[in-house]
This record gives sequence, C-alpha cells and structure tokens, in this order.
Amino acid sequence: MQIRWDEIPAEGIFFRIEDGGWVPRDEVVCQAPPLCTVSLKKEAGRVLFAGTLHLSVVLDCDRCLDSFVYALAEEFEVVFEMLAKEEEAGIAAEHCCKSSELDVVFLAEPVVDVFSVLVQQLYLALPEKRLCSDKCLGLCPECGVNLNRCPCDCTQGTGASPFQILAKLKVQ
Ligand SMILES: [Zn+2]
Ligand SMILES: [Zn+2]
Repeated sequence: MQIRWDEIPAEGIFFRIEDGGWVPRDEVVCQAPPLCTVSLKKEAGRVLFAGTLHLSVVLDCDRCLDSFVYALAEEFEVVFEMLAKEEEAGIAAEHCCKSSELDVVFLAEPVVDVFSVLVQQLYLALPEKRLCSDKCLGLCPECGVNLNRCPCDCTQGTGASPFQILAKLKVQ
C-alpha cells in the first residue's frame, strides 16, 4: 500500500487495516487477523507516521520448542523526510541523529509504503527471547521429554539435581 505525500490531506489521514495480507506469512504465523491503525500527517515538510499493531502471533518457545501464542500490542512513530540534495545530505543526517529519539527514515521519493513500515515494526516488536512462560522448564537434556508436561527420572543419581546441590551447600 503506497501513499504519495501529495495524497495526504492537510488534516492528515487515519485508517484501520483489518486485513493481514501484509504479514509475511512464511515467517510470521498469526492466530487471528491482525488489527492495525495508521495515521499519516504532514508537518514542516515531513510526514509523521503513527501506528498501532495488534497481533496474536504463534511463536516457538526457545526452551521447550512448543508453540505458544504471543499477544503483541505495539505503538510506534516513524518520521519520513525527503533525502536532502547531495551537499546537504551530510548535514541532514547529522541533524537527525542529534535531534530526537524518533525513527527518521529518509526517502528518495515522496511515497510512503505503509505495508513495509508495518512489517518492519512487526519484526522490531517480536520478542528476542521467546518463552512460552517465564517458568518454562524446557526439555530434559538427557531424554528430551518436555518437562512442562511430565517430569522424568533422568536427574536422579546424576548428581546434577538442584536438590542434591542444595544438600551439599547445607553440609558446608
Ligand atoms: Zn516453553
Ligand atoms: Zn529426562
């Protein structure tokens, strides 16, 4: 979905995207259709893009490898500026780095690709560490059983059990 800057009215535009067609399906699995809102506003030669992402994403747990649903709710803001002429480019870039915490994206053409912004923000919002639960017990390194579902006997007698370590500490 491409929006030219000159298509954005002075009061700005706001719309909802309830279709998940923009989600890269081979990489991100959604449990339900995502809901996004987008607002675009022109201001002092720039375009402010504010949006929200609401998705239920199916992820694989890093510890137990089971899939789980992660409810993602994210607000973001991106500022688009036109790429300055060659001699001004250096100054503009410098100014941008100093000025704010906002993401500033420089464009060669006055066109905002809404879907690619959503995809980028989706990737930024996905958790780095993916755990089905903080208390996830993971897989047994010996027999591979998912310890969230059922315990196994492997740790008994190996000396690695937390209870045995605790017992040693008490003796000292
Ligand atoms: Zn897990
Ligand atoms: Zn085991």
